[in-house]
Amino acid sequence: MVKETALYDTLEVPPTATPEQLKKAYRKLAMKYHPDKNPNEGERFKSISHAYEVLSDEKKRKLYDQGGEQALKEGASGGGFHNPMDIFDMFFGTRSHGKERDVGRDMVHQLKVSLEDLYKGTVRKLALQKNVICKTCDGRGGKEGAIEKCRQCTGTGTVTRIHQIFPGMVQQTQSVCPDCRGEGEKIREKDKCKECHGKKTVREQKILEVHVEKGMEDGQKITFSGEADEEPGIKPGDVVIILDEKEHAVFKRRKLNLHTSMDINLVEAVCGFEKYLETLDKRWLKLTSPAGEVIKPGDIKVIVDEGMPVYGRSISRGKLFIKFNVVFPPNEFITEDSIKELKTLLPQADEPIIPDDVDDTYVLDEISPDKASSNNQRHNYFEDSDEDDGPQPSGMQCQTH
Ligand SMILES: [Zn+2]
Ligand SMILES: [Zn+2]
Repeated sequence: MVKETALYDTLEVPPTATPEQLKKAYRKLAMKYHPDKNPNEGERFKSISHAYEVLSDEKKRKLYDQGGEQALKEGASGGGFHNPMDIFDMFFGTRSHGKERDVGRDMVHQLKVSLEDLYKGTVRKLALQKNVICKTCDGRGGKEGAIEKCRQCTGTGTVTRIHQIFPGMVQQTQSVCPDCRGEGEKIREKDKCKECHGKKTVREQKILEVHVEKGMEDGQKITFSGEADEEPGIKPGDVVIILDEKEHAVFKRRKLNLHTSMDINLVEAVCGFEKYLETLDKRWLKLTSPAGEVIKPGDIKVIVDEGMPVYGRSISRGKLFIKFNVVFPPNEFITEDSIKELKTLLPQADEPIIPDDVDDTYVLDEISPDKASSNNQRHNYFEDSDEDDGPQPSGMQCQTH
């Protein structure tokens, strides 16, 4: 039991979440609420980062599980928490807020891909808007020689003001130069480049071809080096594509393996069958169980080389696991005579050892949904069955004696 669940709620996971589930939850939410995509959700982005920072750290998670937010505060030992952008950058391996002055920001995008795409590989075109250096003025913003150093700030981009708070005591404040908006230079209106209006860059649409290769997985990164926004004088950052695997209706992927389930009828479970299963690349597999082989409900069988392809190794593949659900026939599906006949064919049951004194005879009842719901939940129904005040499932009474 955990003391509080707020951090788990923030990441939309149960308190039992595995580190993998936490990673995935953070990835999805951090992408969704990143200030670039959702400028009004800054607080949300912050709390997602905080939750992930705590829960992804084994020690901090334990502290939180035992004592909640209060325990975290007391146990933080002055270390405090990271900037949400730092958490994001650490997670994605990006530079999202340009700490290095000579390299621009990375741009992170999520690309939804189907399991089929990851199985077969595919090429997806991604259109993105980005700033590129204006070709008309070569990124100068105006005619050559038309750029002047800003007089207000002498080219530094910042202005310093000195206030006298009271005689003998002054305060110095620094702020972005209002005249050149921190650029440090100015271009006369008439000399400004007609194409970029003095901004040095223009918005352009760029189409990226994203090669999704066989066997790639959810969360995998595909990096386009230097394809992020251009800015004069700095090296552009990267465009980072994060693959986001969609759920599949038939197959569930666990790393290299695929899992699926299949319904078979009772007759198929005991007499053998021939079934067809379509693969993710639209091939049909014939699955057979020979006569004489019995498949029990929940049995799992394997096909060793029909799982996911191994990324980077074209011939290796994981396994395909098939779990069988045996569909039993409905009540009264055959006549009494046929039942007698069937009994002779099926393995014989053990003869019952009859006790000396049989108290009562019961024909077992169905648990009626009405009765069960009057006791709220089905499991309560069983737990409460030794109390005398509730409705008693007559069929179960023998258990309580
Ligand atoms: Zn200035
Ligand atoms: Zn220009």
